[in-house]
Amino acid sequence: MIRNEKGSLVRPDPLPQSASRPVVTPLSPSVVYASDTPDALDDQYEGRTKGFTYSREGHPNAEVVAARLDRMEGATGGIVTGSGMAAVSAALLGLCKTGDHVIGGNQLYGRSLRLMAEDLPRLGISTTLVDPGDAEAVRAAIRPETRMILIEVVSNPTLRVADLDGIAKVARDAGVLLVVDNTFTTPRAIRPFDHGADIVIHSVTKLLAGHSDVMLGYVAARDPDLAQRLYVFAVTTGLTASPFDCWLAERGMLSFDLRFDRTQATAARLADHLATLPGVRRVLYPTRADHPDRDRAVALLGGQGCNMVSFELDGGRACANAFTRAAEGLSFAPTLGDVGTTLSHPASSSHRALSAERRAALGMSEGFFRVSVGLEDPDALLAVFTTAVAEAMASRGAAG
Ligand SMILES: *Cc1c(COP(=O)(O)O)cnc(C)c1O
Repeated sequence: MIRNEKGSLVRPDPLPQSASRPVVTPLSPSVVYASDTPDALDDQYEGRTKGFTYSREGHPNAEVVAARLDRMEGATGGIVTGSGMAAVSAALLGLCKTGDHVIGGNQLYGRSLRLMAEDLPRLGISTTLVDPGDAEAVRAAIRPETRMILIEVVSNPTLRVADLDGIAKVARDAGVLLVVDNTFTTPRAIRPFDHGADIVIHSVTKLLAGHSDVMLGYVAARDPDLAQRLYVFAVTTGLTASPFDCWLAERGMLSFDLRFDRTQATAARLADHLATLPGVRRVLYPTRADHPDRDRAVALLGGQGCNMVSFELDGGRACANAFTRAAEGLSFAPTLGDVGTTLSHPASSSHRALSAERRAALGMSEGFFRVSVGLEDPDALLAVFTTAVAEAMASRGAAG
């Protein structure tokens, strides 16, 4: 150790000795890792020993999170990325080349849609969007140069359920990679690898981390060669995640199972409750009897639902404004999967770029809301919705 005469300089100070171990994963913010000798570094790079070198390539906190997600998804060699979109980008940009064709679900997450509509075509990768509820439409969209199909199991915000098994068969028959973004459903409800997916993606930002204080993503491939290509692409393009973000995400994930079970149970109750309220035109929840994809949801999600409920209020924007104003304690914020219930209004946020006609065709009027149910007391939460819907309807009366 090198010191000045006051004893203050510089690295490294030895860690205090302890015969006992920390219970919590230590945070390891070190960007670099020192080796003993060039031979030792050789051993590490050649895989004879295991160790870290530079944190863009890997660090303990990322490995801990990746291992946990791998266990949950039944994967090996998954990679933690700096955001969900970094994971989507790694799969699309890291595995496709100019001349390839990619098929995407027509209700993908907004930024994924943008990649499909703008960025892949700019790189000479053509794209087709299809209804993932219709495996035959996916089959019809396959071309000789099709490389990949990207779908979400449950769509945002209309909560339609993809024909995952049908599309997996189409992908298998055509020798095309099936990529499943499992953010909404989570491995608690479905493990896409068990249904024939080749690649699974998460925005860990949402339910898995669960506290809206960290952005993180995950991508895993079934085939080790593809996993290695994803890893190299993520390291090269700097898509990998910071130690502190991984540390926070791990902390959030410790309670994920409990949060998922609680929030999806409350969401199912909220959906049934909303359906009884005057002024609620329709309710969308995958396992409700009136949902168009109910049978598929029950079969695919094994009795689980999701923590999301969508519904449509009578009346236009003014009613929507009155509703969010009256929905006391609920954040009107464009995210999901938080410990607190959040409301999203697609017409003014996620889907604002679409024309009113296009939104109407997708079933998203000015009265359309998506709810991400949190951990509040279920009875108290239902009461907030009762009041807010009633006030929204009263505002309509007041306006004449
Ligand atoms: C939020 C989200 C993403 C993007 O994740 P970020 O962590 O925000 O980058 C991708 N897919 C789905 C389904 C999402 O909800």
